[in-house]
Amino acid sequence: MILLGLIAVLGLITAVIANNKGHNMFLWWLFGSAFFIVALPIALIMKPKPRSGVTRSCPFCMEVVPATASVCRQCHRDLPPMGTWAEDPYHRHELRYFDATNGWTGFVQDHGQQSVDSVG
Ligand SMILES: [Zn+2]
Repeated sequence: MILLGLIAVLGLITAVIANNKGHNMFLWWLFGSAFFIVALPIALIMKPKPRSGVTRSCPFCMEVVPATASVCRQCHRDLPPMGTWAEDPYHRHELRYFDATNGWTGFVQDHGQQSVDSVG
């Protein structure tokens, strides 16, 4: 009985760490209880899930960065401001990044490859 309690507590440690990174707490509690030796290191090293408004993915290297960051900490490229990809209104590229506050940006995309081509 003491052993079962210990297993549940060890699972809970794993679950709390995973939950802080945006993962399902119950599933991680099960995983942590069953395979604590494996689950704890995974929970510790895994990357946090992107949470909208808090973090986002770098469009160039997919690193999770703070939503308000202007330069990626992984690839050191300038990040487009918050917004969305849409058809390039200048018809030079497939897609152009539209910033919710400043309008069209110089960030463009062709066949999944991203580059910079200034507006106008
Ligand atoms: Zn990056």
